[in-house]
Amino acid sequence: LLLNFVPFKSEENQEPGIIVVINDITEREKLEDLRREFVANVSHELRTPLTSVKSYVEALQNGGLENKEISESFLQVIEDETERMVRLVKDLLMSSRLDFKKENWQWQSVGINSLMENTLSKVEVQRSSKNQQINYHPDSKLPTITGDWDKLQQVFINIISNSIKYTDPEGNIKINVDTTVNGILITIEDNGIGIPQNDLPRIFERFYRVDKARSRQMGGTGLGLAISKQIVEGHGGNISVQSKEGVGTKFKITLPIESDSKRGNRSE
Ligand code: ADP
Repeated sequence: LLLNFVPFKSEENQEPGIIVVINDITEREKLEDLRREFVANVSHELRTPLTSVKSYVEALQNGGLENKEISESFLQVIEDETERMVRLVKDLLMSSRLDFKKENWQWQSVGINSLMENTLSKVEVQRSSKNQQINYHPDSKLPTITGDWDKLQQVFINIISNSIKYTDPEGNIKINVDTTVNGILITIEDNGIGIPQNDLPRIFERFYRVDKARSRQMGGTGLGLAISKQIVEGHGGNISVQSKEGVGTKFKITLPIESDSKRGNRSE
């Protein structure tokens, strides 16, 4: 709290007094901390691949080029690290455009069943590489909703591919889509490594990961869930997570058939 004491004496016959101005600076400081943390995170996330690219280029310059095998493997590392930076910057831009409401939403009728089937075909290569089972159970009478197809697909790709990443080979992923009173409920559940209880409240924050090294090694940017939350909330929906370490993780997404927030966004 910031207290300012301002003495005052207005009219001739009035008692002198003090005006106390109370400012709550905790909220302002919290925002400033978040901003600082964000800048530090972005710098760190970019510096790691940049340092790696730089050292591999130097190694190539210092004789590595003479050996074909070494050159090829070093160039592969440089390409992978560059791709990681491109992904990171793309995700950052998307997240910031959603934050500042600069992103164009392409509202249309979306049949969740065809969206989900299309999404499953996109994660098929990743799924088959770990030989996991994905069981998909759509409600037989799903309504169509108003949504942005590409953005919703990005949400499902993020969450399903996380389930694949953080679950052992031969694991199981269960996807249910049910009709609710005013929309639909999608649950994506895996029997993977799970998320410790302490980490759960922060899991939707940008760059928050349970295990940074592991996430990076799997090509993650640490922005997938933050962007997913922004997109779901942009639809007037809600996303939540339940998890138990060593048992598995369950994401729940609700999407309304039509929502006020979409009408608001449409006029932007
Ligand atoms: P990342 O690019 O690191 O996957 P996300 O924002 O998609 O970033 O996820 C944030 C973190 O949440 C991950 O690093 C991981 O620690 C945890 N996580 C997300 N989904 C799962 C899951 N299905 N099982 C276990 N951990 C998960």
